[in-house]
Amino acid sequence: LWRCDIIRSGKPFVIVVSGPSGVGKSTLAGRVLASFDNLEKSVSFTTRSPRSGEVEGENYFFIKREDFKKRMEKGEFIEYAEVYGNLYGTSINYVEKRLSEGRNVVLEIDVQGGLTLKEKRPDAVLIMVLPPSLEQLENRLRGRKTDDEGTIVKRLDNAKREIECSDSYDYIVVNGEIDRCVEDICTIIKSEAMRRERINLRKDVDYKW
Ligand code: 5GP
Repeated sequence: LWRCDIIRSGKPFVIVVSGPSGVGKSTLAGRVLASFDNLEKSVSFTTRSPRSGEVEGENYFFIKREDFKKRMEKGEFIEYAEVYGNLYGTSINYVEKRLSEGRNVVLEIDVQGGLTLKEKRPDAVLIMVLPPSLEQLENRLRGRKTDDEGTIVKRLDNAKREIECSDSYDYIVVNGEIDRCVEDICTIIKSEAMRRERINLRKDVDYKW
């Protein structure tokens, strides 16, 4: 593990990782999470059905649409969005609990969600993962062999829209070579953890960093 003590000393924060479908977000997020010992993934709620191999409470909390709506009305989500016909939302309690325990939280959410979150928590860090080119993204989507032609076209169309929203993100990383991209995201997290405004320096304490 990449022990980064400074990320223990500062105020914990939220890191949002977004990017078009097929760009490799989940693989990247997994590698980044394994690189720090003080970083946790937020598990979202969704109305979509589990894919094979997905585990309740690990990948998502899978719930019915009515349940989601009820939770929405009760204000349980810090952000939510409809993506390809399914609802996805981040639980305020889930995130706040971890932050209050001193852990930093990674949210792997779509662009709409990222922008809502930034409005509510301006100290959140928004990272957009882009493919080296749209052509490469198309090749990756076709290579996965999980989607039919119509879905691929829809995902590519959506990708273009998401890429346009990168303007409102704090950082852009390109996932050309995976190791390099993981390192880039880790560098962003380390640097953000060292921001002065996250570190509560008390004048009466003799700090030995
Ligand atoms: P998938 O169904 O492939 O797991 O996710 C579809 C999209 O929904 C991805 O772009 C993923 O990042 C996004 N997503 C997952 N959880 C959330 C969430 O809680 N909120 C928002 N806004 N998007 C989410």
